[in-house]
Amino acid sequence: MQADIKKSIERISATLPSGVTLIAVSKYHPIEAIEEAYSAGQRHFGESKAQDLRIKQQMLPKDICWHFIGHLQSNKIKYIAPYIYLIHSIDSLRLLQEVDRQGAKVGRTIDCLLQIHIAREETKFGFTPEECRTMLDEGEWCSLPNVRIRGLMCMASNTDNKKQIKEEFHAVKELFDEIRAKHFADTDSFDILSAGMSDDYPIAIEEGSTHIRIGSGIFGTPQK
Ligand SMILES: *Cc1c(COP(=O)(O)O)cnc(C)c1O
Repeated sequence: MQADIKKSIERISATLPSGVTLIAVSKYHPIEAIEEAYSAGQRHFGESKAQDLRIKQQMLPKDICWHFIGHLQSNKIKYIAPYIYLIHSIDSLRLLQEVDRQGAKVGRTIDCLLQIHIAREETKFGFTPEECRTMLDEGEWCSLPNVRIRGLMCMASNTDNKKQIKEEFHAVKELFDEIRAKHFADTDSFDILSAGMSDDYPIAIEEGSTHIRIGSGIFGTPQK
């Protein structure tokens, strides 16, 4: 089992173009599985529950870059604010304001991505492209010194239809380019497009993803 983790990381890493970062999504997997990935050289890990992440962060090496990829509740931000490397799942201005507040408390500027709802499924979180444009146009986010918007995150529809997945990733890349030109032209720090999971990451990379989030493709299917 454990050799598979290392092999999977090596196999996936070998296919990645330079400039694409592999995030190993370790949610629901035990400390030992993360240690195995760590010993294979993996340093970027993704978790989706603030309390689980707090425990894992305390137990594991401090040079791990922890990514928060799940739905984030305002009252849980304090568990991750002191060390989180990147929050992928900002889905409202209110949440961004709360991250800013918690960032100020611990003296950090916290890097964040805006999650874009692009899949046709009803259940996924995130801004619609229109909501995202409106939020950015209104400009309140500019006055939050303890957060920095680094880019966008999205999940494609859970479907076998490759054409549809490609169109969804393509639409988010176009939105990314539009937002960068309009709001971030004077900085280099709007540079992250987090797109692609175990089943669709090659398509996401074709469409300009810079960060792929792989769970089952590395750790197998978790026992919840
Ligand atoms: C669980 C999860 C992943 C990883 O999914 P796999 O299909 O197991 O690779 C990626 N992104 C998010 C937001 C997730 O919740």
